[in-house]
Amino acid sequence: IKCVGILTSGGDAPGMNAAIRAVTRAAIYQGLKVKGIYRGYKGMITDEIEEFKTQNVSNIIQRGGTILKTARCAEFKTAEGRKQAYDKLMEHGIDSLVVIGGDGSLTGARIFAEEYNMPIVGLPGTIDNDLYGTDVTIGYDTALNTIMECVDKIRDTATSHERLFFIEVMGRDAGFLALNGAIASGAEAAIIPEISLEKDQLAEMIETGFRKSKNSSIVLVAESDVTGGAMGVAERVKKEYPQFDVRVSILGHLQRGGSPSAQDRILATRMGVAAIDALLDGQRNVMIGVQNDEIVNVPFSKAIKNDKPINRDLLDALRISSI
Ligand code: ATP
Repeated sequence: IKCVGILTSGGDAPGMNAAIRAVTRAAIYQGLKVKGIYRGYKGMITDEIEEFKTQNVSNIIQRGGTILKTARCAEFKTAEGRKQAYDKLMEHGIDSLVVIGGDGSLTGARIFAEEYNMPIVGLPGTIDNDLYGTDVTIGYDTALNTIMECVDKIRDTATSHERLFFIEVMGRDAGFLALNGAIASGAEAAIIPEISLEKDQLAEMIETGFRKSKNSSIVLVAESDVTGGAMGVAERVKKEYPQFDVRVSILGHLQRGGSPSAQDRILATRMGVAAIDALLDGQRNVMIGVQNDEIVNVPFSKAIKNDKPINRDLLDALRISSI
């Protein structure tokens, strides 16, 4: 390989810039050319491609978002769109790619790599932490810290008014942010999609007598059709348990922003360097992951297709620590 294209796609996540920086510099260090592709897969089709030197990625490690911008691109889901994208890459001499994004972005990468026999390495860039084969994803730690700070603030007002708060956090269909956010902020409970089909989490919470000896309660709810979101849960409480003074807070996009935490910067840098190592090593169609603090290469087929399980210890830790 001689020239690596790099792009960020799907939802943005803090630490994407640190990853762009590391990939760019690792490639240059190894004597490769690097080209930044703007707006995800869209920029391939619309030809928004620029050569990156080391100074293009100066002073970005501390910045949230992504300097390459991100977009969702429907054309890339069609064979025609991918053909246009491939032709543009050829015009620019790009012979390999590093794709930073979530589940959808890596699915696109996998299809493209197979269709055009192109070496592609993925980096897990999503606050949701929902990619199988890696303990953590880039952006997750920062989002978790943001959630913790927000919940701490809501706790002050919840306590003053003796209210029951349902706070909705992101996660798509994964409960990692809700469950760990609840543990970190001392919340009373979390309602997460992974457990929704097993039991009625709301009824259990009320039955086990939560809030009896407390003057406020905070429950984190993962956004998801399965949980019904914070609004859905609150509506149910108003009907079934009218004795509670219920409020809802949806944290929304502020969870995506902010300067990345030290952990996310380090993770993104390690993964970015590993992506170039993997390409030079002849790896293709793999996502870089980290397991037990070791870098691993996870085949796209595994990373995308499997649901990442929730660690059951965490459920116990929350339940026991919130009595
Ligand atoms: P996040 O989970 O953080 O939202 P994501 O990467 O899962 O990020 P998506 O919107 O699902 O975000 O996907 C991003 C882009 O990846 C899509 O807009 C599309 O261009 C491409 N993509 C997704 N699925 C496919 C597919 N099946 N085939 C081709 N391209 C795809």
